Amino acid sequence: GSYQAGSSAVAAPSLASLQRSGGEIRISNVSKSFGPLKVLDDVSLVLRPGSVTAIIGQSGSGKSTLLRSINHLERVDEGFIAIDGELIGYRQDGDTLYELKEREILKRRVDVGMVFQSFNLFPHLTAIENVIEAPLSVRGVSREQALAEARELLARVGLADKVDAYPRQLSGGQQQRVAIARALALKPKVLLFDEPTSALDPELVNEVLDVIKELARSGTTLVIVTHEIGFAREVADEVVFMEAGRILEVGPPARVFAEPDHPRTREFLAKVL
Ligand code: ADP
Ligand code: MG
Repeated sequence: GSYQAGSSAVAAPSLASLQRSGGEIRISNVSKSFGPLKVLDDVSLVLRPGSVTAIIGQSGSGKSTLLRSINHLERVDEGFIAIDGELIGYRQDGDTLYELKEREILKRRVDVGMVFQSFNLFPHLTAIENVIEAPLSVRGVSREQALAEARELLARVGLADKVDAYPRQLSGGQQQRVAIARALALKPKVLLFDEPTSALDPELVNEVLDVIKELARSGTTLVIVTHEIGFAREVADEVVFMEAGRILEVGPPARVFAEPDHPRTREFLAKVL
């Protein structure tokens, strides 16, 4: 292929070296409705820089909408979200709207990477072309540098031999690992995962969870919507349980999974554990 690893003398960086400082997420009194349906209902949450948070809850409880709001794919109706004290888009304060300019929103969105359940790779681009696309258009790095970084990232997610493969030539687990490499290529402070393994065959789940586990040690703030309770127990610093647009419970997994405070958390866990 045309993107074989070069003879670079630079040692491969570990995922940990991708760390950027910061990454605090502050969600403050956020509400969001779709028509008459209140999907987020006065949600407040502060996530420490470098922390790993698992969000659990039934389908329809608002988990994806919360993630999409953090990435500014949804506009919240009330409240605000800030990353390292910087508003990510709008702040609705009663009747007063503080709004960033579109250009500023795009700039800040680079701080937040997102990985979707359905991979969302560009089908007509190879793995490495998928990874360099955003850095080339957003970060303004040279093609040469973007390719070198992309090769490193693909190697780090175990896909050094797949740089020239098209998505259709890759398994679901491999496609999701390309998607993770692509998200990392923008050097986000915060990485959001929306059920990253839900579309995968069971035997492919662990190869993706293992990559996320390594990322968890990297200092990037991670927020993961997942039904993988064992994984959440092992990797998360905090577990958030959502129901009907509200956060009913937050705490360390050892506590939340063993002795949930809220009866609804207990019922939910009884179903999924
Ligand atoms: P979860 O990720 O926990 O399954 P979601 O955030 O996807 O929940 O959805 C919460 C609720 O909002 C669901 O009832 C869903 O049908 C509804 N919803 C989500 N997105 C939209 C939308 N764009 N328009 C209308 N309703 C939506
Ligand atoms: Mg969802």
